[in-house]
Amino acid sequence: MTLWDPRRMTGHAPDGPGLLRNFVGGEFVSTGELFTKRSPVTGEPVFEVVEASRSTADDAVTAARAALRGPWGRTGERERAEVLRRIADELERRFDDLVAAEVADTGKAISQARTLDIPRGAANFRAFAEIVATAPTESFTTVTPTGGRALNYAVRKPVGVVAIIVPWNLPLLLLTWKVAPALACGNAVVVKPSEETPASATLLAEVMAAAGVPDGVFNLVHGFGPDSAGEFLTRHPGVDAITFTGESSTGGAIMRAAADGVKAVSFELGGKNAGLVFADADLDAAVAGSVRSSFTNGGQVCLCTERIYVQRPVFEEFTARLAKRAEELAYGWPADEATVNMPLISHGHRDKVLGYYDLARTEGAQVLAGGAVPRFGDARDGGAYVQPTVLTGLGPQARTNTEEIFGPVVHVAPFDDEDEAYALANGTEYGLAAAVWTRDVGRAHRAGQRLDAGIVWVNTWFLRDLRTPFGGVKASGIGREGGVHSLDFYSELTNVCVDLS
Ligand code: NAD
Repeated sequence: MTLWDPRRMTGHAPDGPGLLRNFVGGEFVSTGELFTKRSPVTGEPVFEVVEASRSTADDAVTAARAALRGPWGRTGERERAEVLRRIADELERRFDDLVAAEVADTGKAISQARTLDIPRGAANFRAFAEIVATAPTESFTTVTPTGGRALNYAVRKPVGVVAIIVPWNLPLLLLTWKVAPALACGNAVVVKPSEETPASATLLAEVMAAAGVPDGVFNLVHGFGPDSAGEFLTRHPGVDAITFTGESSTGGAIMRAAADGVKAVSFELGGKNAGLVFADADLDAAVAGSVRSSFTNGGQVCLCTERIYVQRPVFEEFTARLAKRAEELAYGWPADEATVNMPLISHGHRDKVLGYYDLARTEGAQVLAGGAVPRFGDARDGGAYVQPTVLTGLGPQARTNTEEIFGPVVHVAPFDDEDEAYALANGTEYGLAAAVWTRDVGRAHRAGQRLDAGIVWVNTWFLRDLRTPFGGVKASGIGREGGVHSLDFYSELTNVCVDLS
């Protein structure tokens, strides 16, 4: 089944996969080696992508710097908010193309791309247009040593050239989550999407041009991490700040690269998120919510739950219902409205996830649902699918329960009391998100205080207000983005002190 005709987007290569190019100083640039992006649904090539060379990355940083010296560097918040709204309008005009691009790259269900990925991309620009236009800065009246008065106030300035490096799981959503506040604060950006998901970022470059974003303010370089576009940016002396979403180990590598230039970093990293189901919970809601939190986007959301601890009186019932629901999740082609399951992003990632399915068995897990590769009898057998999987029987220190797998897999284990539940949930090196299911109001609030996590959901999951702080503790990140917290990373505050005497 053809879901997506790349020629519609690129106008290139009428007999082969579409060509995706870099975008530098307002122009698409075709020079460089090509790499192939394959469909996770069938394994067939969908795009040829121009890998940015070191000199293309240099040109992108130079173009960004030049844009900051031009009229963009003198814009005010309200003007930039207007630019962000035009970008959102243009994203909505290109909605169908963006949905098709996201589905082509990831194989995700079209219904999800339509309701989550692309709307959230536009929402990021609208939200930060409002936030930057209304954010206050500090002001203090100071009594001077001579009894006079001085006025102190802070002004926000752009940080400069910001490198934005993002992963493949929610490509447009995660990219725009950083581009929107960076532009709102007056920076110029060089973005590096994942090599696995180059398409929607390329469309975003077209959107920027159509929305009238000045040349050089948004630049795009395609490629990989080490010794490729990613590292060219993180080691570039012309880059002032790096914002990164991806694996914790990659965050470590980027931090080392950034250390030489003492560049500011903001990191949104991996997770091994826990769900806690207390015996007093609405069990229907807890089961439905845990199905979502474990299997949305093929389990490939940093916020997904990979460990669920269930209070003993409801453990058997919850576990049986979760396993049954996992087996019932609908397969289909991405374009079928009823499809829920999606492939993993690549065969390489499938090998990793299947390795964990094997490891879990070796560690002694019981497999209650899934645990294998589904067979379709059609072209999808060339794709990167695995079955949604429910495991039980392992201790908290098993590797299955401590390492991020990033697939549609969850381990379920019992607990007896609240203290034990928090200790189990907090027992990994990660601390990104937690989902708590309870009807006890006091416990709901206690969970928020006692769990080592940047975000604690109670009786819900992945409900986001873009004004709130977002980030992780421990190995799950450095810093917070969202609302004014994004403004704090993407701008420098200068305090001006005026003696009024
Ligand atoms: P990854 O770390 O492998 O790659 C992310 C990006 O970094 C890609 O663009 C990649 O090309 C680039 N990169 C890799 N090595 C680099 C290097 N040495 N220098 C510069 N750039 C480099 O992550 P992934 O596999 O694409 O994504 C999955 C991971 O992302 C998971 O760990 C997941 O938890 C995490 N994630 C976190 C959040 C969050 O908000 N905390 C959100 C989504 C995904």
